[in-house]
Amino acid sequence: MFIEPRVGNKTHASRKGWIEVICGSMFSGKTEELIRRLNRAKIARQKIEIFKPTVDKRYHEEDVVSHNANAIRSTPIDFAQDMLLLGGSCDVVGIDEAQFFDDGLAEVCVKLANSGVRVIAAGLDMDYLGKPFGPMPALMAVAEYVTKVHAVCVQCGDIANYSFRNAADEKQVLLGETDSYEARCRHCFTEGMKQKKS
Ligand SMILES: [Zn+2]
Repeated sequence: MFIEPRVGNKTHASRKGWIEVICGSMFSGKTEELIRRLNRAKIARQKIEIFKPTVDKRYHEEDVVSHNANAIRSTPIDFAQDMLLLGGSCDVVGIDEAQFFDDGLAEVCVKLANSGVRVIAAGLDMDYLGKPFGPMPALMAVAEYVTKVHAVCVQCGDIANYSFRNAADEKQVLLGETDSYEARCRHCFTEGMKQKKS
């Protein structure tokens, strides 16, 4: 389990920020892990703010909702840039569904961290084709801590790190369509992709 290196920095004259990334496939518990870290900060009376891209309208508009319905209130925003205005005065900024943000995300997170904010971003590291997803690779590169969480392969029960899509739709984002995805291990993902082609 991830243990924060230093969570209480209020007493120091020079507030120090950093970036944490929680990544993995669908059904790997990314959002649950984000919520766990944020709740602990909240209990310690740190000022937290949670953002998610407006594109993610699967569940309730203003809540970060994980699959086990463990919800935290969040602010939907259109651009990563918006976090600078809204999150600058926070101790901790949480970001859910980070993969759907624009390419400015890494730069924004760096600015926040440089100004003393602890940034925790959760998102899919790969899309349904197994390709790095949007701004995630850049964000992982500039982060101090990267935690990769895993799901369980629906086909064989091994550790899964791919989001396999059963539907034939070619669009990268299928909103609200979690039913058409399953977590798969490398072997079962590759086999599935082969079958799709033939
Ligand atoms: Zn498998």
